[in-house]
Amino acid sequence: MKIAVFPGSFDPFTIGHEDIIRRALPLFDQLIVAIGYNSTKKSMFDYEVRLKWIEEIFTDENKVIVEAYEGLTVDFCLEQKANYILRGLRSSVDFEFEKAIGQMNQSLQPSLETLVLLSRPEHSHINSTIIRDIILHQGDVSAYVPKVVSNYLKGL
Ligand code: ADP
Repeated sequence: MKIAVFPGSFDPFTIGHEDIIRRALPLFDQLIVAIGYNSTKKSMFDYEVRLKWIEEIFTDENKVIVEAYEGLTVDFCLEQKANYILRGLRSSVDFEFEKAIGQMNQSLQPSLETLVLLSRPEHSHINSTIIRDIILHQGDVSAYVPKVVSNYLKGL
């Protein structure tokens, strides 16, 4: 069984994340969207909220499971019996980061392969950090996040 973990903060979840997941689905039997949280680091959205959004978006995709985890991604992958880590790549900046973390994860756990999908060109500027800044200043992010997320933001 091919199980992949897609780890990230998803703070907030964007159409860039959604697209990577949908394009990766044919490659795996199960895809675990893993919300990494750090009890000492403050996120904009509680992990329970992020988890609910992602579950709702993929409610019809029975290959998708959403979990939150704390600690090392490699340990979470072992726990879940996952053999692949999925990541998305927008730019050369992402590449340097993904290269370092992917090589380190493989060094920590040689059986784990990192699979990277290139973002669509029209998504390469979509970045959760920038989206948070727009939200903080009451800007409109509805073009960059799934409907579930923009509806949540409208209700705030
Ligand atoms: P992290 O906090 O680990 O950077 P993110 O939630 O920002 O996590 O992103 C999770 C993964 O999704 C990363 O591999 C990131 O490169 C990828 N990603 C983020 N935004 C996009 C996008 N617009 N298009 C494609 N991949 C993306």
